[in-house]
Amino acid sequence: MSYKTFEISIPADEDGYVKFQCPYCNQKFKLNASEIEESDVVDLYCPVCGLANEVSNFYSDEVMEKAMSIAENEAMNMIFDMFKDFERSTRSNKNFNVKAGKKPDVPIKEIYENIDELIEVKLNCCDKHIKVSELDRLLGVYCSYCGVKDYEE
Ligand SMILES: [Zn+2]
Ligand SMILES: [Zn+2]
Repeated sequence: MSYKTFEISIPADEDGYVKFQCPYCNQKFKLNASEIEESDVVDLYCPVCGLANEVSNFYSDEVMEKAMSIAENEAMNMIFDMFKDFERSTRSNKNFNVKAGKKPDVPIKEIYENIDELIEVKLNCCDKHIKVSELDRLLGVYCSYCGVKDYEE
């Protein structure tokens, strides 16, 4: 078996923010894409509940759905290719014949950047920015990078 890797691009909003979803409290928030890249984070803290987990566990449902549909597509292609090979190898056999037929089409789910009500908050501790809901902002947020609850107007 060989492994196949594929990349999923997560679209950022017009301010360059990418959506995440907390695996604990399911709250959605956004982080600045270039700030994540330059920080090399392994664990993220949820700005709402303050719990930490690996970045990959914070991918939103939409991203996971897209990843699944890409994986499904890849699997379909592999099975189809196997059948094609089989078809080729049995072509000269009169008693046994395989037809691969038409290639199945699995639509890839697109991620739409829906309009949300999230607002930008500056994290003074790490000099980074996140977007959370108005309510979460009022209650105070944890820094997604260091986990400190440090919010000032
Ligand atoms: Zn949370
Ligand atoms: Zn911080």
